[in-house]
Formats: sequence, C-alpha cells, structure tokens
Amino acid sequence: MNYFTSEKRYSTVNEFYRQTFGSKVYKITLNGDFTCPNRDGKISYSGCIYCSESGSGDFAGKKEDTLENQFQAIKSMMENKWQEGKFIVYFQANTNTYAPVVKLRSLFDKAITLHPDIIGLSIATRPDCLEEDVLDYLEELNSKTYLTIELGLQSIHEETMDFINRGHDLKTFEMAVKELRNRNINVVVHIINGLPGETKEMMLQTTRYLNTLPIQGVKIHMLFIQRNTQLAYLYQKNPFPLLSREAYVDIVVSQLELLNDSIIIHRLTGDAPREELIEPKWSLKKLVVANEIDKLMRQKNSFQGILT
Ligand code: SF4
Repeated sequence: MNYFTSEKRYSTVNEFYRQTFGSKVYKITLNGDFTCPNRDGKISYSGCIYCSESGSGDFAGKKEDTLENQFQAIKSMMENKWQEGKFIVYFQANTNTYAPVVKLRSLFDKAITLHPDIIGLSIATRPDCLEEDVLDYLEELNSKTYLTIELGLQSIHEETMDFINRGHDLKTFEMAVKELRNRNINVVVHIINGLPGETKEMMLQTTRYLNTLPIQGVKIHMLFIQRNTQLAYLYQKNPFPLLSREAYVDIVVSQLELLNDSIIIHRLTGDAPREELIEPKWSLKKLVVANEIDKLMRQKNSFQGILT
C-alpha cells in the first residue's frame, strides 16, 4: 500500500498520518536532557563529525523546562499556523534511550499524557543504546501509544562511517532493527546524502539496502555543515565538494525510484538553524527543494518504487 497524493509521487508521512489517525498530525519536539555515548566519552568525546552543540536537536524545547512547559510553549508558538490536529511528541536531541529505564519511564510515560490529542511518541536513538530492559520497556510503551524509534544509519559504507565517527557498525544497526521489529515497534531510519567521499552510486546502495529491512519509514537529509562542529573545522581547513541543489534533487529522485512504496517518507530535506549553517545555503529554501523534487518526478513520469 502506498500513500501518494495528487501532488506527491511518493508515500508522504502527512498522508499516512491522515489515513491512519483521521486528521493532520503535528510533531512537537521535546528535550529530555539526554547525553550521547559518542560525546560523553563512553565511545568518544568528539561525537559524529557533523553533530551540533545541541546533539542534532536544534529545534527542541528547552531542556531546563518541564515537559509540560516545553509542550505548551511550542504548541502556543505554532498555534497561529495550525489548524485542528493531533500530536506526536518527539525526542530528538542526543540519544534518547541512553539512561536507566527508570528515567525513560518517568519521561516517556508522562510525555504521552501531556495532552489528550497526543496520539504517538517518536524517539531518536542510537542502535547501540537499546539494551534488553530498554527494549522491554519500549514494547510496553508501544502497547500504550503509536511508538516510533528513529535510528541513524546515515550510510552503509564503513569507510564513511569511520570518517564521520559514527561509533557503531552495520551489524549493531541490523540487530537493533531486528529487536525492535520482533516487538512490533515502528522503525524510521535516517540517511544522509553528500557525506564526504560518497558517490551517487554509494548513496543508491544505501537506499537499496533499506528495502531489505522490515522498516516503516525513512528520513533523507542533506549533509549540513554547522558552526562549531568538527565538520566545519575540516571544511574550513580543506574544503571538500558539496552537493549542489540540482545534484541533491537528482539523487533523491533516484532514491525514491528505488525505495519500496510502502516505506513512508518522513523527510526529504533537512533543517539546520540559519545562524548555525555554513553550507549548503540552498538547503534553507526547503520548499524550493521539495518543489524541485516533485517537478523532476513529474518530468520523468516517475514515482516511488518504480524501479523496485
Ligand atoms: S549519535 Fe547523534 S547525538 Fe550522538 S554524536 Fe552522533 S549525531 Fe550527535
């Protein structure tokens, strides 16, 4: 089953939510004040080379605030733009299962009851932070709400992974997907296009690999160079080629053509705060990127999964 619309030739998350929950669904990003083992010294102190000071969670609530206040602040801020809808609360910054189960329980059990219209919970984490007791708790949580675990894969190529200092291997990722799916938990995988040294073919290999997994969704990002990251330091010292908007659009369309149409597309661009972004500047115009993707798909008379 696909979730295409008259405008989008791929399975959009908005359409999926509309059909599943009967209304528009908004994500509210909260901050649970987690750290990351790839930044606190358990694996490394340096983290993934593109990771920002906020732990790649630049649009979350303020970690000093209670969950209630974070939720209310974001909801009120957005209310003018929003029509009626339901909510998914999202924990994005750092590694959101990197804590004892007692902390996870007090945080996530509360998060899903912050508002009667919260219908789901999304948790971003690392595949190496899903121990047995955490998985058991997530299974319990999955029986109470629409739970999604987001895992960062970024690329299947180990040389790239070493370069970006991801700190875990493909086997660990595969095991995490298997354990989550054994518990019937939804899995969304993040990949990044434009990592240094990667060709279009390498990015397409990562995409083909996604089809072999029992996953429910994908987030496709472009590589961002943000201030105060190791990547920024490397780029400023020795600039490497970055994807142009045209090249990114071409790659994304090829990826969509390869992806099974049952895999929901949660993102086709990324979000970096304007003041933190060094490159690519074209990524700030997200709507233009999305429109260019739609345009190219129409021109090619293409759609998600046409090549599967
Ligand atoms: S796993 Fe996430 S939070 Fe941790 S260093 Fe990498 S990008 Fe940053």
